[in-house]
Amino acid sequence: MTTIPTSAPSATKTLGGTQLARDIRAGVTSAAAELTLLGLPPRLAVVAATDDESSAWYVSSIAKAAAKSGIVCDVVDLGAGATPQGIRAELEKLSADPAVHGIILQTPLPAGANFEDLAASIAPDKDVDGANPVSLGRLAAGLPAYAPATAAAVLALLDHHEVPLAGRTGVVVGRSNVVGKPAAQLLLQRDATVTICHRHTRNLDHYTRTADVLVVAVGRPGLITAQHVAEHTVVIDVGTNPTDDGGLVGDVDETSVSGRVAGLTPVPGGVGPVTTALLLHHTIQSASRSQHS
Ligand code: NAP
Repeated sequence: MTTIPTSAPSATKTLGGTQLARDIRAGVTSAAAELTLLGLPPRLAVVAATDDESSAWYVSSIAKAAAKSGIVCDVVDLGAGATPQGIRAELEKLSADPAVHGIILQTPLPAGANFEDLAASIAPDKDVDGANPVSLGRLAAGLPAYAPATAAAVLALLDHHEVPLAGRTGVVVGRSNVVGKPAAQLLLQRDATVTICHRHTRNLDHYTRTADVLVVAVGRPGLITAQHVAEHTVVIDVGTNPTDDGGLVGDVDETSVSGRVAGLTPVPGGVGPVTTALLLHHTIQSASRSQHS
């Protein structure tokens, strides 16, 4: 049986991401201006093959953020009827285009199209959202690679708020290739001792309560409550779940854990804005590197 902690609530620090995102984007804007002056305008391509509304909203928010920072963003909308062959051909074309520095493959994809299989057609040096399985493999091997922007945002937030990682216990809930696994790899690279939990994990709270740093990337509102945390835990809530009133909540029950953890990222305003900023930052890195290749 699980007991809910009964100790008196302590202060929980809000680990916001908006200021960090602003700082990253300021750097992106000045680097983009310099590259453009050098005749190398940074360019990001987003390939979409869906009529999903939230996906369209996300793509347009990336395109707006890119434009605001001086990055050219091409949205290649192949439509929900696109075939895997058509998507692959587009990714190959963009990969071969020297004017394109970053490529994102948007989800969801049409039925029958496998994300990892198609993302393997994104050139690793343009894979600014770490979608190509080669990028995940390189990350695991400790070789240079773009980490998926969301996983990179988790680490950037922890660093920004000066959360120590070496020798600490990191628990990641969720093992997707785009968030959970790469976030776990990045924590491991920083010498944390890492446990990954998923749908089949028994007694989830047994693991999560051991965490100095708890990263939750599931997509289930209210999954993490007071019974899953300890007072020393810093919680990074990656979940984004739309609410009936048009809002957004994470996977962590904020009311339940508030005062019972050391720190918590807000949703919205935590991981999300840093993710977008890092996508743009990776595009700038790719454009800068292309100067020397
Ligand atoms: P996903 O591919 O659906 O993966 C969800 C993971 O959660 C899976 O590994 C699944 O385990 C695990 N899981 C499901 N139910 C569980 C439970 N009851 N207990 C423990 N683990 C459970 O999702 P994703 O793409 O990683 O995204 C996760 C969340 O992050 C979503 O809310 C998404 O919207 C959000 N997200 C946010 C950003 C951002 O920028 N803020 C970016 C990307 C994603 P199995 O593997 O065993 O099925």
